Amino acid sequence: MSGIIKSRIRTLLTKYSVFLVALLMVAPLAQAQPANPDNMPLGRQAVEIVDGKYPATYFPNTEILGADEMRITALGTGMPNQTRAAVSISYLVELGNGDKFLFDTGSGMLANLFSLRPDFSKLDKVFASHLHVDHVGDFMALHIASWLSGRYTPIHLYGPTGSKPELGTKAFVEGMQKGYAWDIATRSGALPDAGGLIKVHEFDYLQENVIVYQENGVTIRSWPAIHSLDGAVSFGLEWNGLKYVFGGDTYPNNWYIEYAKNADVASHEAFLPPKALAAYFGWSMAQATYVSTRIHTEPQAFGKVMSQIKPRLAVGYHSVQSPENNAAIMDGVRKTYDGPLALARDLTVINVTKDIIRVRMATVDEYVLPPNVTKAYLDAPRSDDKSPSKIILDGKWKGYTPPPMPKKQ
Ligand SMILES: [Zn+2]
Ligand SMILES: [Zn+2]
Repeated sequence: MSGIIKSRIRTLLTKYSVFLVALLMVAPLAQAQPANPDNMPLGRQAVEIVDGKYPATYFPNTEILGADEMRITALGTGMPNQTRAAVSISYLVELGNGDKFLFDTGSGMLANLFSLRPDFSKLDKVFASHLHVDHVGDFMALHIASWLSGRYTPIHLYGPTGSKPELGTKAFVEGMQKGYAWDIATRSGALPDAGGLIKVHEFDYLQENVIVYQENGVTIRSWPAIHSLDGAVSFGLEWNGLKYVFGGDTYPNNWYIEYAKNADVASHEAFLPPKALAAYFGWSMAQATYVSTRIHTEPQAFGKVMSQIKPRLAVGYHSVQSPENNAAIMDGVRKTYDGPLALARDLTVINVTKDIIRVRMATVDEYVLPPNVTKAYLDAPRSDDKSPSKIILDGKWKGYTPPPMPKKQ
C-alpha cells in the first residue's frame, strides 16, 4: 500500500473510533434518563439549574427541580368573575422530593394547570381554604379531567368543617357527587375504578396551627381565617427547612400574624382597594368599602401584615391587574410595607431554595396537548364498559356502521 492510502485508512479509523467511543459514552447516559420525566414532551430535555441561573421565563417540564427546591406556581389569582387573564384562586406547590400539592381550585384554574402538562398520577392532594366558588369551583372539573389524564388513584381533598355539618367540606363533596352523579356513572368502569373516588379529609376550622397532613417530610398545618362566615382557614406548608403559607381569603388576623412568621414565601390576599373595587364592579363606595376592608384585606392592610411577619417574599393576589388596578394595589402596599414583594398574576412561578427566591412567568401554549398517561394508568383495574338501554340503542341509525373494535391488550 502506498503511504497515501495508509494514511487515509488511519484517518478514517481515527474518525470512526472517535464516533464509536462517543456512541458508547452517550448510550448508557441515554438509558439512565427516565423515559419521559414529568410528562415532558418528546424532543425536549429537562435541564438542571446551575448556580441559580434560571432562564428568563419558565417553560413547563424543561427544568429539573433541585432536590432541596420548592416551586410555587400561581394557577389563578383573580376574582369570581374571572377573565382570560385572571381566573379564580389556585396555587400549585411542587417539591424537590417529587410531591405536589394544590391549594384551592378556583373556577377556571384547570386550563392553567393543563398548560403545565403535569403528571396527574402524582397530583392527588388538594387543600381547600374555604368553600367559595372562586376557591373550589373547579374541584369537580379537576377530579374528572385528572381521572381522564393519568390519575388512577383517589383524589384527596383536605378542607375545613363549617359552623354546621352542611356547611363543611364533607357536605360540599357529597353534594357535588350527587350533582355529578350522571357524569361519574358514565365514566366509571371505562376509566380506572379507584380514580373515580374522592377521599375527604375534613378538619376543625377552629384548630390553631394544627397538622392536617404529614407525610414524606412534608407538614401542612391550618389555622382560622376571618372571611364572611366561620369555616375559612389558612395553610402553612413546611418541608426541608422551607415554609410556604397560603392565606386563602381573610381579613387581617392574629393567627396569620403568629403562624405565618418565618415563612419563606407568605401569600395573602391583597384585594382591590375600595375606590378601585367600586370602579371595577360599578358598585357604590359603601359596598366596595365593606367588601374590600371588612370581608377581604385591602393593599395597605396586606402591607401591614407583611411588615409584621417579614417573609423572604410577600405574595399578594386576588385582583385583576390592569395598569390602574396594579398602581392602586402597589401604592397601597408600599405605604405600609417596603420588603420583598410579588403581586402574583396567573402563571407567576416562584422558585425557592434556602439561598434564592426567583420570580418569573411561565411561557405556555394556548393549545396544549394533555399530558401522557403512564403504563400504570393504562393497566389500572376498570370494572366494565356500560351501555344505554335497548330503547336508546334501537335508535342507532343503520346508515352508519362503526369500524370493528380493536382487541383489548
Ligand atoms: Zn372567599
Ligand atoms: Zn376569594
